[in-house]
Parts: sequence; C-alpha cells; structure tokens
Amino acid sequence: MDRRKFIKQSTFLSIGGLFIPSVFFSSCRKESLFEDINYDGKVIIIGAGAAGMYAAYLLKSKGIDFQILEANTSYGGRLAKLEGFADFPIDLGAQWLHGKNSLLGDLIATSNTQITLDDSAEKYWFNNQLIDVLPKDVNALFGKEEDVPDLSFKDYAIQQGFNNEYKYIVENIAGDSGASASAISAYWKMKEEENWVSGDDDFKFQETFYDLFDQQIASVVKDKITLNAVVKKIDHSQDGIVITDTNNSTYLADKVIVTVPISILKLNDIQFVPTLPSEKTNAFSKIGMGAGMKVFLKFSNKFFDENIIGGSVCAAYADESIGKLTNENVLLAFIMGDQAEYLTALGSDVSITNALLQELDLMYGGQATASFISSHVHNWTNNPYVNGAYSYSTIDMGDARKIAAQSVDKKIYFAGEAMNNNGHHQTVHGAVETGYREVINILNDILK
Ligand SMILES: Cc1cc2nc3c(=O)[nH]c(=O)nc-3n(C[C@H](O)[C@H](O)[C@H](O)COP(=O)(O)OP(=O)(O)OC[C@H]3O[C@@H](n4cnc5c(N)ncnc54)[C@H](O)[C@@H]3O)c2cc1C
Repeated sequence: MDRRKFIKQSTFLSIGGLFIPSVFFSSCRKESLFEDINYDGKVIIIGAGAAGMYAAYLLKSKGIDFQILEANTSYGGRLAKLEGFADFPIDLGAQWLHGKNSLLGDLIATSNTQITLDDSAEKYWFNNQLIDVLPKDVNALFGKEEDVPDLSFKDYAIQQGFNNEYKYIVENIAGDSGASASAISAYWKMKEEENWVSGDDDFKFQETFYDLFDQQIASVVKDKITLNAVVKKIDHSQDGIVITDTNNSTYLADKVIVTVPISILKLNDIQFVPTLPSEKTNAFSKIGMGAGMKVFLKFSNKFFDENIIGGSVCAAYADESIGKLTNENVLLAFIMGDQAEYLTALGSDVSITNALLQELDLMYGGQATASFISSHVHNWTNNPYVNGAYSYSTIDMGDARKIAAQSVDKKIYFAGEAMNNNGHHQTVHGAVETGYREVINILNDILK
C-alpha cells in the first residue's frame, strides 16, 4: 500500500505507442516483430486475469488465433469489483496503480480513465496509542541489497534494533508485499525492489481497476474467453498440445500461455505431460504465496484516519473513500499473511468483522461499534483458483522467478505476476508485462 521509498527511475523506450521497458529488447529479435507476422497456429491462454487478457489483446492485434480458458465463472482473476455495498464501486482485489511508467500506465494515459494520486497520511498504532511519527524511522530497514542478509524480514528487523514494539509495523511492511514478516526474505525483497522502475507514486481509480480492464481489454477479447473451464492437464508430448479440463472437454493448441497463480502451480493442480523439468518445479516451490483478504467496513461517521498502520489484528487500514466520489465512510482492512490466516480461522464473516471492530474500538474509544453499519469480507484464500494473495520472495529464492518463467519446448510459456522478474511481481502492471513478454517470446519462436 505505501509502496517502496527508494525507487530507481530507468529509461523507457517507446515503440508504436506502447511503452516498452528496455529489458524486453534482449528477448526481441527485431523491432518489426510486431508488424509482419503470419502465423496460422492457435494459442491457448490458461487464465483470464491481467496477464492472460493482456496477452490475448496483443495476439488479437496481430491477427493470431487464440482462446482463453478460465476456471472461474467470470473473468478478471485478482481484479474484481463489488457494487451495491457503498455509493461507489469497490475493488475487491487490486486497487492501486503503483507508478505510471509501465505498459499499463501508457494504456491508461491513452484512455479516458481517471486516476488520482493517493498521498494520504499515515498514523501508527504504537504502544497502544495513535501517533503521527514513529520514534525510529522504519525506512532504515530499506537498505541497499548488498547490506541486507538473507534472513526473514522479521529477523532482519530485530537485528536492526526494531524490537517487539515494532512487530506490527514490520508486519505492515511485509504485508504490503503479501506476506508475514517471518516468511518473506529481507534480502530478496530488497534486491527485487531495486529493479522497480514504474515510479513510486500510488494512484487510485475514480471508478475501479477492474473497470479499466473490463473497458479497455476484456471488451476486445471476451468473445474468446471460455468460462468454467478448469484446466487439469496439458499434454504436450505430441506435435499439437492437448488441454483437458475437469469436465473432460479437450482443446487443441500449438502454443499455450499458462497464467494461473503460482499457488495453483505449486499445488500441482495442473498435470503436465511430459512432466516439467524438476529445476522448474523447484523454482515454483521457492516462490511464496500467502493468505490474503480485504474487509470493507461501512460507518455512519468518519472517526478514522486515512491510514492506520500497526494493528495486531490488521496491520493496515485505509480510508477506501479517498479518490472516490462518495458521501459514505468506508474503511478497508487490508489483511495479509498470518493475520489473514488468524481471521480466516475465526470461521464466519461476523466473527472477522467483530475482531476488526474490537481493534478499532480500542484505537478510537468505542466509536467503531457505535457507528458501524455493515461489512463485506472478501477472502482471496477461499478462491480455489487463486488460493492466496500474491507472490512474495522467500529466503534462498535465487533465480526462482526467472527459472519458473522459462518456456518449455517452445510450446508452453509462463506468465502471471509471479513470473515477473523485473521487480514488478505482486502487481497488475507486472502481470501485464509478463503477458507482453510471453507474446514477444512466442513471436520470436515463430520467426526462428
Ligand atoms: C487483495 C489483493 C490486493 C491487491 N492490490 C493490488 C494493488 O493495489 N495494485 C496492484 O498492482 N496489484 C495488486 N494486487 C495484485 C494483483 O491483483 C495481481 O498481481 C494481478 O491481478 C495478477 O494477475 P495475473 O493475471 O497474474 O493472475 P490472476 O489475476 O490470478 O489470473 C489468473 C487466472 O487464472 C485462473 N485459473 C486458475 N487456475 C486455473 C485453471 N486450472 N484453469 C483455468 N484457469 C485457472 C484464475 O481463476 C484467474 O482468473 C492485489 C492482489 C490482491 C489479492
């Protein structure tokens, strides 16, 4: 949410109206690749999230035949929208655009999408008080990668003198990266963030992030999306590729782009024939993906601050109405890792809501319960086709993202946020970049 404080800006190059990070040129044989391509094969994309839909959008622009197989009853993946809860539409998944310098930022700039800078202020719940400034600046934890050991972020914070008082402040930083502080690697988090180039400002959509995709991307490709197609097997042992779903329907393709969340690959929910190289499956297992949920709380009064960091039940609350046209007071509880697991274990939405209200009552002298109207709990871990929040970097991670993303036999290609090894994993624009990269890889392989 309050993403990185130390961002390197880098050069972006522009081709045909698209901003293309220079890193992609290493995989691109020649600039005219996007101009004259004549391919009569079929590409099947598994998953209709940001990566899959963006890949489809590019294939369509090249006149290449494609189909998207999506397990769920709707497209969007970790982009989803809630209407009717408040007087404005709400993003159940991604909601902040983290920096504008990306393919997605360029798409936004050429559309009529309205975005607003989110420069909301933070308050910290520290030693049972809400304070404006922490006694010790947590930015000290964002060192240069060479100075940071490959320890968990929790152990690293303790080593740097952030004692138990900072426990949930540290959890908030890890939670922003979709993990518990005990699970994420301080070193790999830092190393990957040094590659971040999309910019350090966060923006909110006047409508929703989901609407951007729905209007700009899905509208172009949705006639080629097959919903309720839960892929269980990808057989690439023969010339053509045979894909089978759980209804035993089969689909034939020449090339496949797999964009399912890393959690699905780690669980072996999709069988590959022949099996994937062990180097690759080991790489999948090294990429972390923890629990994640969002809870929206509607109140009659705005008693709360714009951001409240450091709760023991929820380390990050944010005023959902910032950047929106609304007369209502909605507070988002953004809950990741151990905190999401704890709340999930409470069992019911009512129990989850009560635990959050109790914490807010403690912070604001009982005002939460007194002005509570209603809540909406969206637990991403309960979605069997997502099964968590987003990927994070574990101790001893090494080149796992790079290896995981390598294509197999010029037939099976891997995209999705976890396969972004330019530091933009965990984001929508990072997912889009992988969709782009794999279309480039396919075009390269076709031309070889
Ligand atoms: C709570 C939350 C908050 C977030 N906030 C932000 C934010 O503010 N800003 C930001 O940039 N990013 C945010 N993210 C991350 C962002 O949403 C993701 O990085 C991005 O949407 C992932 O896109 P994807 O295409 O890689 O994967 P997905 O969107 O997960 O798409 C993969 C698709 O594959 C489908 N699938 C799975 N298994 C199968 C199968 N067997 N057969 C067929 N289909 C299958 C899934 O149903 C899904 O639709 C957030 C994520 C969460 C969960």
